[in-house]
Amino acid sequence: MNHDSIDPAVLDRVSQVFARARSVLFITGAGISADSGLPTYRGIGGLYEDATTEDGFAIEEALSGDMLRERPEVCWKYIHQIERACRGATWNRAHEVLAMLEGRYERTWVLTQNVDAFHRRAGSKNVIEIHGDVHRLTCTRCQFRDRVEDYAGMSIPPCCPDCGAIVRPEVVLFGEMLPGAAVAALERELGRGFDLVVSIGTTSVFPYIAAPVVLARRAGRDTVEINPGTTGVSHVVAHRMRNRAAVALDAIWQRLETAS
Ligand SMILES: [Zn+2]
Repeated sequence: MNHDSIDPAVLDRVSQVFARARSVLFITGAGISADSGLPTYRGIGGLYEDATTEDGFAIEEALSGDMLRERPEVCWKYIHQIERACRGATWNRAHEVLAMLEGRYERTWVLTQNVDAFHRRAGSKNVIEIHGDVHRLTCTRCQFRDRVEDYAGMSIPPCCPDCGAIVRPEVVLFGEMLPGAAVAALERELGRGFDLVVSIGTTSVFPYIAAPVVLARRAGRDTVEINPGTTGVSHVVAHRMRNRAAVALDAIWQRLETAS
């Protein structure tokens, strides 16, 4: 199937759903950044089709909190690969449309699993980065924090300029808890409810990513999925657009602009 050709009947229905909503939650995953040239990820930003790294570890081991503590150079090698994939890439039309939609609704939130920070860079303000942002660094021992454009010129693994301990990115590694502030923000906003929940470019394997879609459907709210493939929530949503995110969102945006 050609993922650039949109079913006009589906576009009509989805555009109507977008037009009548007043509060919207967009849930995004690697598929939205695929149009920026980023690989679709496995696990935390996982660029990995193979289950095993070249160091012989399962990727879940290499990118784990335990590995960061015990062998930071191994963990950092793979963190560095994830960041390198983002470098030179930037947000695309899909991120741009979500940022513009924030001005259309009374309440708009983006819940993203991506660590590339493209939503914020594209202009979205209400973003819950549930897996963190690879550009935010923090010392594993002291209060040192930093924000970097990229890792170019950094020694890997990086050390804290204040205390010499290992610095880490503020991302959720395997075996680690989700960031408390992000979870609290998500719970607060889900408690307020949304007229429309849209799942974009995510396989929805994590329960906290699938649950808002399931809850919305149960509550009789509108639900849409934008994804070329079939996912964990495909059978839950009321409307499916089987297209790439940038193509689908651009088409929806044009409909909304024409109608208003
Ligand atoms: Zn430090």
